[in-house]
Amino acid sequence: MTLPSEPPRAPARADTAAPPPAFDCQRCGACCAYFRVSFYWGEADDAPGGTVPVALTRPVNAHLRCMAGTEKRPARCVALAGEIGHDVACTIYAQRSSSCQELQPGDDKCLRARAAHGLETVPASATSPDPAQLPSPSASR
Ligand code: SF4
Ligand code: SF4
Repeated sequence: MTLPSEPPRAPARADTAAPPPAFDCQRCGACCAYFRVSFYWGEADDAPGGTVPVALTRPVNAHLRCMAGTEKRPARCVALAGEIGHDVACTIYAQRSSSCQELQPGDDKCLRARAAHGLETVPASATSPDPAQLPSPSASR
């Protein structure tokens, strides 16, 4: 994943080598406010090589931690800034866990989270025909 040079405006989960994301994470944030976002405890920065600020996590069990705020319902990660479905940002983007990095726009978890927040689950590009693909008025059949 390519990291932006400035704090990202959104969870920004898509890998730059992947196809264009189906949805714009910067205008969503649903998955940061739906699942318990848990990961191996060693990913927190109180462990050697860990990156996730431990103060923003909560213990789950002997092996796992989760992002604070996602252990309860309604869930919302404390690192998520902004308004879900409009304009959001992950405030610890460069330090986020592997769980955050693995979830991809358009995958099953993404769609479940978006549906739970009342956001569309079919990309606009899939419902709106590309004008360039439509026959011109003068085209013969
Ligand atoms: S639910 Fe999907 S589109 Fe929304 S922030 Fe998560 S990965 Fe991105
Ligand atoms: S750490 Fe960032 S990407 Fe992960 S759940 Fe929280 S706001 Fe979302």
